[in-house]
Amino acid sequence: MLTLETPIQFVKGIGPTIAKMLAEKEILTVEDLLMHLPFRYEDRLNPRALSELKPGETASVIGEVRGAVLLRTKKMPIFEMTVGQGVQSLKAMWFHGKYLEGRFHAGQTVALYGKVDASRSGRGLKMIQPQFEILPGGNDDALDRVLEVGRITPVYESLGGSKLASRWIRRAVWNILEELKGIPETLPSFLPRSVLRRLDLPSREQALREVHFPPAGTALGQLQAAGTPAHKRLIFEELFYLELGLEVKRRKFQEKTGIAFETDEKVRAALREILPFHPTAAQKRALGEIAADMRRPAPMRRLLQGDVGSGKTIVALEAMLIAIENGHQAALMAPTEILATQHYLSAKRVLEKAQHKYRITLLTGSLDADRKRAARRRIYEGETDLVIGTHALIEEKVEFAKLGLVVVDEQHRFGVLQRFRLMKKDGGEPDVLVMTATPIPRTLALTLYGDLELSVLDESPPGRTPIVTRRVSDERADEVWDFVRKQVKKGHQAYVVYPVIEGPKGDQPELDFALPDEAPEEPSQKAKKPKTEALFPKLPLKSATDMYERLRAQELSGLRVGLLHGRLDADEKEVVMRRFLRGEIDVLIATTVIEVGVDVPNATVMVIEHAERFGLAQLHQLRGRVGRGGAKSYCILMTGGKISPSAEERLGAMVETQDGFVLAERDLELRGPGEFFGTRQAGLPDFRVANLVRDRKLLELAKVEAARFVAKAKEEATEEERMRVASRLKDAWQRRYGLAEAG
Ligand code: ADP
Ligand code: MG
Repeated sequence: MLTLETPIQFVKGIGPTIAKMLAEKEILTVEDLLMHLPFRYEDRLNPRALSELKPGETASVIGEVRGAVLLRTKKMPIFEMTVGQGVQSLKAMWFHGKYLEGRFHAGQTVALYGKVDASRSGRGLKMIQPQFEILPGGNDDALDRVLEVGRITPVYESLGGSKLASRWIRRAVWNILEELKGIPETLPSFLPRSVLRRLDLPSREQALREVHFPPAGTALGQLQAAGTPAHKRLIFEELFYLELGLEVKRRKFQEKTGIAFETDEKVRAALREILPFHPTAAQKRALGEIAADMRRPAPMRRLLQGDVGSGKTIVALEAMLIAIENGHQAALMAPTEILATQHYLSAKRVLEKAQHKYRITLLTGSLDADRKRAARRRIYEGETDLVIGTHALIEEKVEFAKLGLVVVDEQHRFGVLQRFRLMKKDGGEPDVLVMTATPIPRTLALTLYGDLELSVLDESPPGRTPIVTRRVSDERADEVWDFVRKQVKKGHQAYVVYPVIEGPKGDQPELDFALPDEAPEEPSQKAKKPKTEALFPKLPLKSATDMYERLRAQELSGLRVGLLHGRLDADEKEVVMRRFLRGEIDVLIATTVIEVGVDVPNATVMVIEHAERFGLAQLHQLRGRVGRGGAKSYCILMTGGKISPSAEERLGAMVETQDGFVLAERDLELRGPGEFFGTRQAGLPDFRVANLVRDRKLLELAKVEAARFVAKAKEEATEEERMRVASRLKDAWQRRYGLAEAG
């Protein structure tokens, strides 16, 4: 009997050989194959007439092969085919099309899908490199005729060359669905009936059937956007199990014992004493939420979200002070050494004002071995109150005497579902506060961060003026340097950022904070779109080190110019940062090490060379280094030569808006969630049918329903349903997300 769990090789017509090919695509069971959804649909019920096509549109057409030739041009062989409908015809062309020779014969019916262009002569139409399918004719078997034509036809990504392409998948899926039809209970509902009813979703069986073979009359647009009830049902189910797992995890976590901190008058006085300014309403609210968490005995897991410059640091510092005043230690983890160093300097500055002498320790990778050892000993012996360092270092090698609170300054790097491997001498689970500058939507944040509560800083500190952002071509570099000089003359400071430390021999990308922001760098991307890349050859890159030498000798001679990058050792970095902070350096030449967190309010100019090389999130972060004081600030995006369309879009977005929320959305659209969050590295699950950006509304719904289900399982579902959900949950989490062990 066929069930969803049946191994694919036991399906009629699929033997061990095909099963092996499918296994490579992670298709092991009947269900896996059914969840391989079409990526688009063709309306072969009402095909478009050639006479109504217009140049510029993307369309699918059905026609008869009239003739085909392989043209041997000087550059490459081009396969050209004429497809006709009555008196109308269209030319289809494939470059390097030798592989198509002999595949088409006059009289065959073909479906083509691609962009329509006017042919060179001006009369008639053509399609360049369309996708194609040869449709069954009178001699093919009946099933082919049912599945391929006269319906809305699903088109699939191939599961193995031309053999396991759309046509094969249609038949296999159809056969499975037919076989399952006769057997009730083989397609059990994994969603409780109450949920289905409430959301008015179709049954699983109906959903699977309609998503593969949409009934006549289904709107094509809705299908393409995965917006039919059938799609929604399958997507919702996947998201429901994700959210259910997170909810269970969160509940389990709530049962752990943490530390119940006190915030009595003495603690509050200590908090007031160090405040350097009036906190904004948003800062007050966030700190209130954090303090409430800290008072509770359950361990805190909270995300503090706030755009660049919204003032997260002081909130974190106050939270750490609560822990310290309660006799615990606090740790602040930063993504880079420079940032750790800066946090250290500013914490020292702020805490100096207090009566009590707080003991602060900086711990970064480039300290020499003796100093590291001494620092670790102080932490272990409880001789320090506040430890500031880089993530890796604190997580891996440090044992605390009495750790009460960990603050993770992640900015826009994601550590989804973090497992903290912090070692402690005592048992109590420390509180954790994660800070991020990426203004991703709430549900998305909660999903990415799993079980965190959320506080948002949605208000800038007073007195900020908008940053003027301009794109400037390399040819006008002289004007840019003149402008920098003028700003320095007015008493301000400037950053100039380069994508690499050294060049061209080394051409070494910044290592301290290398983010795969620029898609073409990724090998997987390279494989996909080599052509566009070739159109935009890379210019030799200017580097921070070379330009430092040049600018201080020439364009910026007479100014105090400094250099900062990830390869300097910790002491050197600290010296440069300190001098820039004190205003002893006018212009800081740097790499993206300054991307996150660096805070020098007197800096008013951010010049980014090779701006096309940076990702949107990076650009936004870099721009966030200026506009931090009262004075008018500028961000100058310099580019040279041709740049790719996607880089154009990024730079355009930067000029258009300064709203981190809008930019994050745009970035998500441009890059897709996988790349945006760095799926693998971030531990973000790979979804089968859901797409976190497209399906945000369903995610929201899934979260609500999952929480409701956990809270009221007994009223909401029968015992049998509950058991089914529980075992499905275990499966889903183990198999799909690999997140089995709850933190
Ligand atoms: P981010 O959220 O990017 O980490 P910071 O915490 O570095 O932002 O704060 C940005 C700048 O704003 C800092 O110079 C900080 O001292 C200042 N700042 C923060 N909160 C306030 C406030 N309430 N009033 C005035 N200045 C503030
Ligand atoms: Mg910060």
